[in-house]
Amino acid sequence: MTLNLRIPGPMPLPEDILDAAGSQMINHRGPTYKEIIERMTRNMQSLLMTQGSVYFYTSSGTGAMEGAVVNTLSAGDPVLSISIGVFGDRFADIAERYGAEVTRLKTDLGAAAMPEDVRAALRNVAGCKAVLITHNDTSTAVKNDLQALSEVIHQESDALILVDAVSSAGGSPLPMDDWGIDVVATASQKAWMAPPGVGVIAVNDKAWQAHEASEMPKFYFDIALYRQYLEIGQPPFTPALPTVFGLDRALRQLVEEGIESVLSRHAARAQQTRDGLRALGIKLFAEDEVASDTVTAAYVPESVDAAELVSTMRDEHSVEISGGQGPLRGVIFRIGHMGWCEPEHIDQCLQALERTLAKLS
Ligand SMILES: *Cc1c(COP(=O)(O)O)cnc(C)c1O
Repeated sequence: MTLNLRIPGPMPLPEDILDAAGSQMINHRGPTYKEIIERMTRNMQSLLMTQGSVYFYTSSGTGAMEGAVVNTLSAGDPVLSISIGVFGDRFADIAERYGAEVTRLKTDLGAAAMPEDVRAALRNVAGCKAVLITHNDTSTAVKNDLQALSEVIHQESDALILVDAVSSAGGSPLPMDDWGIDVVATASQKAWMAPPGVGVIAVNDKAWQAHEASEMPKFYFDIALYRQYLEIGQPPFTPALPTVFGLDRALRQLVEEGIESVLSRHAARAQQTRDGLRALGIKLFAEDEVASDTVTAAYVPESVDAAELVSTMRDEHSVEISGGQGPLRGVIFRIGHMGWCEPEHIDQCLQALERTLAKLS
């Protein structure tokens, strides 16, 4: 049986994207690569609904998060971090490591950030330079109301809004310019239906102005280099060509399908997953109003061991799900449904879950 990989990234890929990723190598300083990078840039701009700049790093999503920080900030800058889980903590850690003065606003796990809490927190961070937000925290499967948070931040301050959209972009609505987001970080292996290996950073004019004043050390992730090279249709450094080929193919397909359709497909798979889990009598971790479009978390039933649940699903049913991270280890399990995810993928996962729970409880 082929593995039904239902972790929150990387996801299984359709045959034609796998084929594209398996194409022969090319000169990344030649005309074919120029065509590819220019097309990928246009397509990503269109899918993120931005007139801003888009650059492709050879990195995972964390590289793009680091890029968001080091390109816009300086040591000593007051920064507000809004964390609703593991990935929010990571964003704050990156900024702190580079010397930012980070104030952390943390919610209870399973909750989204409340706009009024963010307003109050902002009033306590004098001269706040940037707010770090996770759009969708994959560790709790909770989605923040980014539009509402962004509105409050714009009302209260001039702070930049840096968003970790690694597991949301391409799966949840994120009209970057409309919502006034200054930097978006995302990655190929999540909702973008491509292999791991490309981190994506999108920046607007305000972020470029911040870049001019930014003194944090940067070399590999310096967007000025990527801008300079993009002018001649090249990357500054050797790209992960197989991932680029796959991502290029995926982005073309997504643009052709239309972002509205892509997003409603994700919402439908999320709904199917939540409905199916409830039908099995399983308690969901997040309330429906804040539930993620790309990953679903649920409590491991009390009579069942979490590690055994995951291993039985994998070994006996060829369905790979994820357990919980950090304090949620042993408490929840997570099912990924982003990128290429057909209703049958979820049905099969739920059937395997039903049999596994019958066996283990
Ligand atoms: C996957 C993910 C990341 C980045 O993880 P990498 O392993 O570095 O790609 C960051 N933030 C969120 C919300 C994620 O889901």
